[in-house]
Amino acid sequence: MTTIEANLQIVRARILDACQQAGRRPEEVRLLAVSKTVAPELIALAHRAGQQAFAENYIQEGVEKISALSALGLEWHCIGPVQSNKSRLVAEHFDWVQTVDRFKIAQRLEQQRPTHLPPLQVCLQVNVDGGPNKSGVRPEQLPELAAQVSQLKHLRLRGLMCIPEPAPDFEAARSVFAKARDLFDQLNAGGLQLDTLSMGMTADLEAAIHAGSTMVRVGTAIFGARA
Ligand SMILES: *Cc1c(COP(=O)(O)O)cnc(C)c1O
Repeated sequence: MTTIEANLQIVRARILDACQQAGRRPEEVRLLAVSKTVAPELIALAHRAGQQAFAENYIQEGVEKISALSALGLEWHCIGPVQSNKSRLVAEHFDWVQTVDRFKIAQRLEQQRPTHLPPLQVCLQVNVDGGPNKSGVRPEQLPELAAQVSQLKHLRLRGLMCIPEPAPDFEAARSVFAKARDLFDQLNAGGLQLDTLSMGMTADLEAAIHAGSTMVRVGTAIFGARA
């Protein structure tokens, strides 16, 4: 067994355990493998060990791997900031983008998504803890942005994503994630049909699952520490 295969088994067991603790069904939580800085050969190994969905932060690096691994039919998520001058690459190459935080970028993606492809699957990044990490829409502005993005034809709004600052303990992490969960529930109560709450990484996936995460983004625990 490869190290990556063993690591994947450990991460899947952590997810299973957290779901049991939280009284949730394991099928409710998807594992996204964060492959930034990871070589294509290792991504292929993870795929052989059963992993289907991968995420990249740096758009150029992601596009190169998407091309190199196109024969495998993987699902690719963009989880890094999208500057205007990179939006076309995202629209043309990725299946999902989780970092939309302003309408201007959503409109560019809408115009640039090739019509022969399925709609680009979108999560809005929300700044739940007001952290110094300036990306993410502020919670007060989220309902308007969600309403606007949900109207775009070549984008499909799937949910929310957040990257809170590291918390000191489980309970602190859970309570920040719970804010994202509340925003998600409010949007659905307001008539949207969102199914994805992307939160939780190597260090805090259990707290995120307790708070209702449906997609954890895990890099280090699968591929090892990044250089
Ligand atoms: C790097 C990264 C991850 C994965 O972090 P790990 O701690 O390595 O699991 C998840 N989400 C985003 C947005 C990232 O940049």
